[in-house]
Amino acid sequence: MQWNGSHSMDGYGIMRIAAVANVRMHMLAYVFHTKKPIPKGMEVCHTCDVPDCINPEHLFLGTKSENMQDMIAKGRKAKNYYSKLTTQQIIDIKNHLEARRYTQMQLAKMYFVGQATISEIKNDRRPIFASAETVRKASR
Ligand SMILES: [Zn+2]
Repeated sequence: MQWNGSHSMDGYGIMRIAAVANVRMHMLAYVFHTKKPIPKGMEVCHTCDVPDCINPEHLFLGTKSENMQDMIAKGRKAKNYYSKLTTQQIIDIKNHLEARRYTQMQLAKMYFVGQATISEIKNDRRPIFASAETVRKASR
């Protein structure tokens, strides 16, 4: 059972809700199924290791470190292209690039990543950026 809509850069199913933020669909599926909020500091993990799987039977709560351990135990490698960066940082970098305020090299130094990462973000056309733009417009 996999999500048919947008995906985050690390492969989770996401949906924009009320122009506020992208919600990870597996987390939403968990909340709907259990009718309980996800406790602070906890993550919704997959028994099946499919990031965009939204089958509530495959979802369980774990702390971030438990999730990491589970990941290592199962030999799963994080498929986050820019694992050092938060989504907000990626959006910021994208905005900087659009505004041409800084060179790619300057941005790489500012965010402690390689220039190749900045270049990848520049060329990235995945939905997260479209969503960021929509959110920015909506909040004006
Ligand atoms: Zn699954």
